[in-house]
Amino acid sequence: MKKTVLVSGGAGFIGSHVTVELAQAGYNVVIADNFSNCDRTNYNGVCEILGEKLPLVEMDFCDAAAVERLFSEYKIDACIHFAAYKAVGESVADPLKYYGNNLKSFLNILEQARKRGLNVLFSSSATVYGEPEKLPVTEQSPRQEATSPYGNTKQMCEDFLRDCVAAYDGVKGIALRYFNPIGAHPSALIGELPRGVPNNLVPFITQTAIGKRECLSIFGNDYPTPDGTCQRDYIDIVDLAKAHVCAVARMLDGKMKKPYEIFNIGTGRPVSVMELVTAFEKVNNLKLNYKFAPRRAGDVTAIWADPTLANEELGWKAERSVEDTLAAAWAWEKKLAGK
Ligand code: UDP
Repeated sequence: MKKTVLVSGGAGFIGSHVTVELAQAGYNVVIADNFSNCDRTNYNGVCEILGEKLPLVEMDFCDAAAVERLFSEYKIDACIHFAAYKAVGESVADPLKYYGNNLKSFLNILEQARKRGLNVLFSSSATVYGEPEKLPVTEQSPRQEATSPYGNTKQMCEDFLRDCVAAYDGVKGIALRYFNPIGAHPSALIGELPRGVPNNLVPFITQTAIGKRECLSIFGNDYPTPDGTCQRDYIDIVDLAKAHVCAVARMLDGKMKKPYEIFNIGTGRPVSVMELVTAFEKVNNLKLNYKFAPRRAGDVTAIWADPTLANEELGWKAERSVEDTLAAAWAWEKKLAGK
């Protein structure tokens, strides 16, 4: 019997890629999304890649009655929760928007987990590690006090899941801490669709290269790193999506060593902003208009993962090179521009 996985926020950037990998691995997937921060492009792209129309429930996870109806209608074996707001700066300006939405929606899912004994996978973030004292970071590295309400919701949701797993029979949980997901599906049918001016580096790079933005500002070149720019662990979106398939299989096949587990999902390879820009130029054979600008408030100097636990326990490893990933990101931007 095929198992059914619910993907909340399945029409978004990460959710759509995860949906494709789950379906290709043989799971039934139900997508639920309220399209508050995306349009139907990725949902349509997912259906085109898979050659079938996946079930789509248009709903808001803050609506407890709608969540109850969803879980009554479908027999869900595992739920992956992505539906959340994600702009750090906006969360500082309007914390209640973030606390209201990101916490309430997850609490509604946990209520169903308590009632029905669910497997829950939470999309967490390396942001929980703050500015790490030791690099690379392992899952044992201490979490640091969040510097934004967005980051705080990630920590709080991890704790909600941990506590519910401890308290309620039959509830199991995995939190995946993502490093910096970038790129797009090799088909160029799904990818990142930022609204307005992108906050993240790679969409800003591709939009500058296509001419939508005049110039990339590199935030800070006086950091204590080899070339003075910040270092991150950029993880290919398809590699990241595959980690979810491994985690879901681990939960559904009874392979978990503890009922609540945490895994870092990264490559283990630090890449600076400057190195990323240079790699983008080289692999796509173009010149990018960029300038150095002051540091951005809230940025950490350097962070990258020790992914050993995910490698060994999930049997997952990041495979794609940063060059291949940047080529996919560029192919997607060109596709959006009709080029
Ligand atoms: N960055 C930059 N210019 C931009 C956007 C980002 O120099 O227009 C830098 C940012 O300072 C950080 C890195 O790119 O060092 C990654 O930033 P992003 O917002 O993509 O992810 P974060 O690591 O903040 O979650």
